[in-house]
Amino acid sequence: MFKKIKKLFYLYVLKRKYYRVGKCNVCGRCCQKIYVKHKDVIQTEEEFKKLQRLHPFYTYLKIIDKDETGLVFECTNLDKETNKCKIHKSRPGICRRYPQEELFKMGGNLAEHCGYRLEPIESFEDVFNKVCKKNKKIKK
Ligand code: SF4
Ligand code: SF4
Repeated sequence: MFKKIKKLFYLYVLKRKYYRVGKCNVCGRCCQKIYVKHKDVIQTEEEFKKLQRLHPFYTYLKIIDKDETGLVFECTNLDKETNKCKIHKSRPGICRRYPQEELFKMGGNLAEHCGYRLEPIESFEDVFNKVCKKNKKIKK
């Protein structure tokens, strides 16, 4: 029963398609070698400076590289000895919620070896049956 309520809540209230499962193994990869997307992937220092005025999270980032995708960042709050976040208790919401399915919508992927994974809430069979039911109703 709880599972069913949870599923409906995620699907219809939160409008999610995936459950986040697993746990963080403190690899620190999601805090380094990252791209920033705001409409498009940030390409220039000027774009990045504008973005920093919009949200404090971006003030934590520093540019470490640029490649064919865009500027590459790492977070200055990452302790590279321990791979832990130096502001863990007050870390921004975007970090608390990582990884979210929006990551996929933005063309991103989970960091390699991330301890989390995103699992579809509805199986292929569920979706297939729903579509069949809908089609039957339309034909009537
Ligand atoms: S604030 Fe902490 S959790 Fe967020 S990106 Fe920086 S180091 Fe990682
Ligand atoms: S990539 Fe995944 S496992 Fe690694 S620190 Fe980030 S959330 Fe944790």
